[in-house]
Amino acid sequence: MKILLVIIDGLGDRPIAKLGDRTPLDAAKTPNLDYMAKQGVCGLITPFLFSQEKEPTSEGAHIALFGYQNYFLGRGPYEAVGAGMKMNAGDVALRVNFATVDKNFKIIDRRAGRIEKTQPLIKALSKIKIKGVKFLIKRSFGHRAVLLLKCLRLNLKQLSSGISDNDSHKNKVKIKKIIPLNQSREAKFTADVLSEYLARVHHILKDHFLNRKREKQGLLPANYLLVRGAGKFKKTPSFKERYNLSAACVAGGGLYKGVAKILGMDLIKVKGATGMADTNLKAKFRVAKNALRKYNFVFLHIKATDTFAHDNDFIGKKKFIEKIDKNIKSILCLKNALIVITADHSTCCNMKAHCLEPIPILIFGDGKDNVSQFSERTCAKGNFKKIKQTDLMPKILKLAKI
Ligand SMILES: [Zn+2]
Ligand SMILES: [Zn+2]
Repeated sequence: MKILLVIIDGLGDRPIAKLGDRTPLDAAKTPNLDYMAKQGVCGLITPFLFSQEKEPTSEGAHIALFGYQNYFLGRGPYEAVGAGMKMNAGDVALRVNFATVDKNFKIIDRRAGRIEKTQPLIKALSKIKIKGVKFLIKRSFGHRAVLLLKCLRLNLKQLSSGISDNDSHKNKVKIKKIIPLNQSREAKFTADVLSEYLARVHHILKDHFLNRKREKQGLLPANYLLVRGAGKFKKTPSFKERYNLSAACVAGGGLYKGVAKILGMDLIKVKGATGMADTNLKAKFRVAKNALRKYNFVFLHIKATDTFAHDNDFIGKKKFIEKIDKNIKSILCLKNALIVITADHSTCCNMKAHCLEPIPILIFGDGKDNVSQFSERTCAKGNFKKIKQTDLMPKILKLAKI
């Protein structure tokens, strides 16, 4: 059997008083998902946490649900590869925010007034090399970018991801110093060279014509880079090598494309797949369905449920789930395929954050149980029971008889 894995980001939630003590999924009208629950098997997944985590991250949770928890690279490399950058073993990548600081390096705005047009700034930063390290920066979206550090003289100097962030995640405080997080020479070298780079970048940005123009217009200048999530690239065994599956990914968000690409999946482009609430769900389901003709395994990612929950917009989350339900109808006729619908983690509206609530899962295409509605509450009674996130791949491979 072929496998279609649909990840609805941050789907699970807690009951909300204004929804009649129901979760957005429970409150949503979802006739198609309920039909699939009725004809399929339901259960719950307990989220995986890396030792340093208090709540799940999207990148960590995806890596765990695909069964690659021993190959986690940190956020930077997944973002970089998702943004189309080519990484080699030993390269270090970080996420970047264009930000505004004052003369004393106090953060005025972590997002530089949500600047969109960063290309002229990025161009001005395009050819920086310090102590044998080349710095490449690429825009992802809005004020966000990715920074890639490449060692030009391998064997002489090595880079390390064991360095701290400079982002204090708050405005009106001083930027943090990048420091090594371990005793190694590599971590010290990387922290030093990155600090030197950030100072040089500030020097270039503060006098850049675009920032001068922004200031004249009363806008905040994007005069500093906040960096976080350092990760070092190393080769990860592909889905083909690990599971003997030809795999493809349909996603809008860069991070998810990056995860898929690093796991050796082919990325399938979909017009209008934005990773936001306006994404073209109809096209995504159609493309994923067609991809099953060629591939054994298709990973379809849908993002906006998580985004609504981060804003405590539980009505938005509920309505978006209803929109997914309408569009999911087109895959109900799939033959000889196991359709798995679940999430990477729950995102609790009332916390505006990822949370530890168990994740609902629905498996359609191999057997049925007594659950007739898709929700956290009803999934607790399903025959799939409650499994660990890292056991998901072995379980579904077994069901699909692979
Ligand atoms: Zn997520
Ligand atoms: Zn999130």
